[in-house]
Amino acid sequence: SIPLGYFGGIGAASRNGILFKGGNYLDAMAKVNTVVMDKTGTLTEGVFKVQQVQTQDMDSNEFIALVAALEQKSTHPIAKAVVEYAKEQNQKILDATEVEEISGHGLKGMVNNSQVLAGNIKLLNKFNINTAPELQDIIETIVVVAINGQYAGHITIADQIKSDAQFAIESMREQGVSQTVMLSGDKNSITQKVAKSINIDNAYGDLLPEDKVTHVETLKKDETKIVAFVGDGINDAPVLALSDVGIAMGGMGSDAAIETADVVIQTDQPSKIATAIKISRATKKVVW
Ligand code: ADP
Ligand code: MG
Repeated sequence: SIPLGYFGGIGAASRNGILFKGGNYLDAMAKVNTVVMDKTGTLTEGVFKVQQVQTQDMDSNEFIALVAALEQKSTHPIAKAVVEYAKEQNQKILDATEVEEISGHGLKGMVNNSQVLAGNIKLLNKFNINTAPELQDIIETIVVVAINGQYAGHITIADQIKSDAQFAIESMREQGVSQTVMLSGDKNSITQKVAKSINIDNAYGDLLPEDKVTHVETLKKDETKIVAFVGDGINDAPVLALSDVGIAMGGMGSDAAIETADVVIQTDQPSKIATAIKISRATKKVVW
């Protein structure tokens, strides 16, 4: 039979918007000393807004219409921002065909008989397309676009750090977490900037979904590390499954992440990670 303490712990957690999928995860959570987090949607709002559109020589409305046609086929938060912006500019959204989502990179498809690529610099590199060298220096999220094999321009997009992100990291330290790590598919320059501003110990950017798995595998080789991973995306499912405790941000998270996770934070507040650790430790005291 399950000790009463577990019910108390699960109940206390649920009143805080934290869903433990079983008492065994309370035990695992009580031992966590390493917290690995995704950036977008976990520590940042994950709600992007278009800031600027920069084209090589194309009319910017025509450019946005082409990119939005492609992005309309994606559910990525970046894609939503581009479509939203195109609508604000009263652009009619064209139809894209043969659209492929290239995980961790972006999109490829056909719009008005042109081949359009929209994603990060890695995406264009994959297709051997040179971009403008100054793109490397932009410390913001950008969607880089190529039309018919030529770099055509970029869109600057901004996200916001969640208001309780810094407090979340502080609270984890107070709960005895000795290492905080942020992993992101976004540009490394942005990843480092965000990590520094909220005081995260180690941060890695420009990662593909499989690179996140490798990072957690490496951490887990050290047997003294009990690793929690916190993420919200479809791409995060493998790494959620691999970690000692997989935590999903439930409000905006993908169904795949919520299903794979051991713990779901329904309020999307990263500070609830520390709350979950605190509750699990208090429960353990009652149970053992
Ligand atoms: P993360 O959630 O860590 O940012 P993702 O794997 O979701 O990682 O995305 C990694 C990167 O790939 C994004 O930061 C973006 O640069 C690019 N990307 C992915 N999907 C799209 C898309 N639909 N449109 C534009 N860029 C995209
Ligand atoms: Mg993500």
